[in-house]
Amino acid sequence: MAPAAAAASGPYRGRFAPSPTGPLHAGSLVAALGSWLDARAHGGRWLLRIEDTDTPRCVAGAEAAILGQLAACGLVADAPPLRQSARGPAYGAALEALRAAGRAYPCACTRKDIEAHWAARGVRWPPEAETPYPGTCRGGLQGRPARAWRFRVDARDTGVQGIAGPVHWHDRRLGPQQQDVAQAVGDFVLQRADGLWAYQLAVVVDDAAQGITDVVRGEDLADNTPRQILLQRALGVPAPRYLHLPLVRAADGRKLSKQNGAEPLDLRDPVAALQAAGTVLGLPRIEAAGPGAWLAQAVPAWAGIIAAFATRSRR
Ligand SMILES: [Zn+2]
Repeated sequence: MAPAAAAASGPYRGRFAPSPTGPLHAGSLVAALGSWLDARAHGGRWLLRIEDTDTPRCVAGAEAAILGQLAACGLVADAPPLRQSARGPAYGAALEALRAAGRAYPCACTRKDIEAHWAARGVRWPPEAETPYPGTCRGGLQGRPARAWRFRVDARDTGVQGIAGPVHWHDRRLGPQQQDVAQAVGDFVLQRADGLWAYQLAVVVDDAAQGITDVVRGEDLADNTPRQILLQRALGVPAPRYLHLPLVRAADGRKLSKQNGAEPLDLRDPVAALQAAGTVLGLPRIEAAGPGAWLAQAVPAWAGIIAAFATRSRR
C-alpha cells in the first residue's frame, strides 16, 4: 500500500506555470491572473514555474518576454522562478523511487505499435481523445529495446479500499470529479523515448518541491489531475487543492492557444488586458488608473467569487 498522501496544509502557496514557447496571449493571462488573485485572496504566496521540459518547443527569449508581460500587468512572483530544465536530477530520483517500488516499468512501444494494437481489435479512438496504453510491456519487453518509462496504474491507488475504480477528486469550481485512469489513459509515460520528462511527473515533483497548496489553472488541464493524484499517492507527497478556470475560446470553439493563432497580449493598455481576463473569470468591470489599482480592487471581488464556488460545489 502506498503511503497515504497528506492533504496540503499550511500557508497558501499557489503558482503560475507558463511554457516558454512564445509570449503570453489572452488565454494564458486568465490563468496567470486567476492564480495570482487566488493567492492574494488567501493572503498567500504566488510562485512561478517555467515549464521548459519540452525543450524542442521552447523559444529563445520567451521566458523574458513572459516575465516582462506579467510585470507590465502588476503580476510579480514572490520568489525567483523555478525552471524545469534544471530539475532533471529531481525527476530522475522520483522515477528511481517509483521503479524501486515496482510502480514504473520500461516500454518498447512506438505510437504505431499502440495504434496497431487497437486497430487489430477494431477499436478506433477519436482524434481529440487520449489513446489508452494497452499495457503491452507490463509483463516485460520480450527482447525489444526499452524506449520510455511508464507508470503502472494500480488498483491500490484508485477506487475504494484497493478495489479498482475511478479516481475521485474535488475541484473548487467544478465540484466533484472522477476519472477511471486505467480505462481512459492506461499506464502513462513518465519519461519519453527521447529522454524528455513527461509533464505529469514534472508537475507532481515540482508542486511538492515548491510546497504548492493550491493549483489554479485552465480547465483544459482538468483531465490531467487524476494522473497527477495517482503519482502524488505513489510518491507519498501532499495533494494540493484544485481550481480549474474557464478558458478563452478561439472562434472555432477550441481553447485559444499559440497553436491556433492566438495573438500575443497587447499591453499598450495593461488595465484593458487585465479587465478582459477578469471578465472571463467572472469579475465585474473595475475602473482603475493603472494595473496596481485594478488588482487591488480585483482581490476582494475574487474572494466573493470563490466563496460562491465553495457554496455551489458543496451542494
Ligand atoms: Zn510498451
